[in-house]
Amino acid sequence: MMPYRGNHVSTVDCNRDEPLCRVRHADLRRLSDESVFKVYCPACTEGVLLVKRDPETLDLISEDRCLFCGQWFVYEDETIGGEPVTRVEP
Ligand SMILES: [Zn+2]
Repeated sequence: MMPYRGNHVSTVDCNRDEPLCRVRHADLRRLSDESVFKVYCPACTEGVLLVKRDPETLDLISEDRCLFCGQWFVYEDETIGGEPVTRVEP
């Protein structure tokens, strides 16, 4: 896994130009027990990752961005919340 190298002052889009970060969704902290998908961004720790779906097939895809800091992630999990994750490699 690539270590996070961004700065530690979080502002909107502050990590948008940071390199891709590979993470395991299963290791991230969930917002609540009610959603298996929403997790806190490990880069800025206050933004949220929703897990994206392919707009046509609605399958989960492995690429995501933090809604707040813009950090770009790829999930290494085979499944998230019991659903298979389609690999989207940049
Ligand atoms: Zn973030």
